[in-house]
Amino acid sequence: MFHDAKARLDSAAATLGVTAEVVERLRYPDETLCASLPIRLDDGSIRVLKGFRCRYNEVRGPTKGGIRFHPSVGIDEVMALAFWMTIKTAVVDLPFGGAKGGVAVDAKGLSPRELEGVARAYVRAFAEMIDEDRDIPAPDMYTGGIVIAWMTDEITALERRPMPAAITGKPRQLGGSLGRDTATGDGAFLCLERLADRLGLGQGASIAVQGFGNAARVFARRAAEAGYRVTAVSDSSGAAHDPGGLDLDALASHKNETGSVEGFAGALDRDALLTTECDLLVPAALGGVIDADLARKLRCKAILEIANGPVQPAADAVLEECRIDVVPDILANAGGVIVSYFEWVQNRTGDYWAAGTVAERLAERLRTSTDAVVERAERHACGLRQGAYLLALERLCAAIAAKGTQAFYNGGGAGDA
Ligand code: GLU
Repeated sequence: MFHDAKARLDSAAATLGVTAEVVERLRYPDETLCASLPIRLDDGSIRVLKGFRCRYNEVRGPTKGGIRFHPSVGIDEVMALAFWMTIKTAVVDLPFGGAKGGVAVDAKGLSPRELEGVARAYVRAFAEMIDEDRDIPAPDMYTGGIVIAWMTDEITALERRPMPAAITGKPRQLGGSLGRDTATGDGAFLCLERLADRLGLGQGASIAVQGFGNAARVFARRAAEAGYRVTAVSDSSGAAHDPGGLDLDALASHKNETGSVEGFAGALDRDALLTTECDLLVPAALGGVIDADLARKLRCKAILEIANGPVQPAADAVLEECRIDVVPDILANAGGVIVSYFEWVQNRTGDYWAAGTVAERLAERLRTSTDAVVERAERHACGLRQGAYLLALERLCAAIAAKGTQAFYNGGGAGDA
């Protein structure tokens, strides 16, 4: 996964004429740590879990990125995700580098007490890194709300002082920002609105969403409110399908009651969701779900990536051939880290913003970033993903050059920084 992630770096670096030294610099994480986390289970036994944190690159600021609890977590995945955070924070121009962490565990199989044990053990293991000026964790898969609250409590207890800006995505009562819980879905919708014409998506265009977690739900609701038809939704157990558009509130209630979207409407297989006919396909679950073979079978006009890394790099060329535009994760799901940045700013200044202020500033930043990505894509006659990489790389090169390490950048503009 990490190896694949760097394929896109190489291609952007070649287009931009970045020197080999810069590419070499961005090829390796600053540090990747593994720790064993001993957890006491409810039956009294001890289980030792593997935890990871990768601080990929801090040339643009303290490292930033979520922590996920998922059985797929391993060192390779965490490094790839931390690399993408480095690119993502540069695309939306936050004063942060990139990081990611995780624990290899099925959070759904843990009791609340066991989950709290994992959250606190994680913070104890990586406490030396966690700091508002060094490394700032946040939620990711299965670490929303209460998990972040336990983590914030643990770091505060360990450091014996309030550390609100050291972790973002906190509940409001602990210094969290208004709008952070819906930020990823809101941001994805704002990108869709800004790019709808370019993607050829008119009024009533159909959308299929893989995943029905927090970001997917928020996105789907906002898209439906704006007149799109959300025709298919899947989760890990099944799918729901209605060509006329699903009733999303009723679907959410069905999932809350039964644990799945399965059995709500239509007869669509979970795995068939990706190849179902739609105007816009929105992978919002796991990474790596679209490989080159599957890419040939897609029946959509465009893809908007809410998950991190849902399209494998080997599928990029196929999608281009099939003229399927991709709004890349490093732009489409950046709403979360943008509002995390707002939270960090509010925690540091003590000036807390109204919901409308957060929403306006999120929209403004995504508008500017989306337009900058489109500008790069047009200038270099490439897709939006490559455009986003080019933009990020310009900014990373400018930061590296400004730090005076070496004259890394041969292209015009950023080298003058
Ligand atoms: N985990 C989210 C992401 O992948 C949010 C990270 C953050 O808020 O720092 O972008």
